[in-house]
Amino acid sequence: MSLTNRILIAMVAGILLGSAMYLAIHSSALPEGLRGLLENSVGPKGLFDSLGNMFVASLKMLVVPLVLVSLICGSSSLGDSARMGPIAVKTLTLYLGTTALAISIALLCALIIGPGEGTELETAQVFVATAPPPLGDVLVDMIPSNPVQAMAEGKMLQIIVFALLVGYAISHTGESGRRIAGFFRDLEAIVMKMVEILMLVAPYGVFALLVEMFATEGIGSITKLAAYFFTVLTVLIFQGLVVYGALLKSLSGLSPRQLFTKMRPVWAFAFSTASSGATLPVTLSTVERRMGVHNSVAGFTIPLGATINMDGTAIMQGVATVFIAQAYGIDLSATALLTVILTATLASIGTAAVPGVGLITLTLVLEQAGLPVEGIGLILGVDRLLDMVRTAVNVTGDAVVTAIVAKSEGQLDEAVFNQRGKRRGAEATDDDAPTF
Ligand code: ASP
Repeated sequence: MSLTNRILIAMVAGILLGSAMYLAIHSSALPEGLRGLLENSVGPKGLFDSLGNMFVASLKMLVVPLVLVSLICGSSSLGDSARMGPIAVKTLTLYLGTTALAISIALLCALIIGPGEGTELETAQVFVATAPPPLGDVLVDMIPSNPVQAMAEGKMLQIIVFALLVGYAISHTGESGRRIAGFFRDLEAIVMKMVEILMLVAPYGVFALLVEMFATEGIGSITKLAAYFFTVLTVLIFQGLVVYGALLKSLSGLSPRQLFTKMRPVWAFAFSTASSGATLPVTLSTVERRMGVHNSVAGFTIPLGATINMDGTAIMQGVATVFIAQAYGIDLSATALLTVILTATLASIGTAAVPGVGLITLTLVLEQAGLPVEGIGLILGVDRLLDMVRTAVNVTGDAVVTAIVAKSEGQLDEAVFNQRGKRRGAEATDDDAPTF
């Protein structure tokens, strides 16, 4: 059976077992001892929690080496052709444009549906606001005063800046540069192989994460917030399939269906980890190996996208803003709506690619729109579930923009993109490599 199918089966099995455990834990029919046992297995440091954390940690282990090496390879092969500038401009424009579009659709749908009308104002959980980073600091913070420290702390934008500079210098250093470029290409093949090896345990990791998640959160919390939950979900699915599909087709002529088929394992990772950062190794290897995007584009756009392109998060923020305004009976003016679009788009640049961080930047959006930040307490109950789906949308946006930019730059191998199961690169044909 292909790895994709095994991951998808693990996903469904994890959701079912987790939900069954949730029901069992909350049912009085079960003997006390058995209930305790189940509760412990999904509790903090329990079996499923530990297995899931091991899996996420091993994914994160590869992020910094992969981003560094891949970006150095990509930019060193681009350095000569002076294409770096246009690629960066196109990528940034598309990333910011899709985010602004996503939040506008979210606001429009929320205003039409009115998910917050008639909501009772009792915040089940208290939300303690953490100060989001001031937007001005983001630019200064992009330059690493100490690249080793940037890598140790996993500061993605700083690593990107450093790697771009190294790659550019390599391409302008003659013979020595060529030698080092060869070294980094070999290293990249090795790190990619590590990603493939890790993929072999992915079904178990995905299973453990989802059992833990569904056994502790339960889907019962949805009922109280059904209108909000389903509005966000609908816009997320619309953005993920319709908007991205139309953009891909109209701007590059590529088949959305092919791209979505190849994204399935990436979705499973994003959904179970709720972190675009942890999913990054899989996103990068998928767009390079399975979609045929050259690493001179993917090595730059994917790490950047995981950091600054969060369309799913922006959608949640748009619907949440309208929901909270309606729950508190506050009318949103046209200026407030524009402020929300602008702030959410800019805030997505400073949003870290980790679970739940979208809520922290939501405080910034609410403050700018003059809405009560405590309102976030109203939506906390279903946020974790939505986080999983919006992370899948976030990574899809990265892949779509990458494919569009790569196609326009002649850096996409259409034969690989259109072929089922075929992957790019000589070592990709190894018999022992997992097949997606
Ligand atoms: N979990 C999201 C991500 O990593 C960010 C968020 O919306 O909280 O992409």
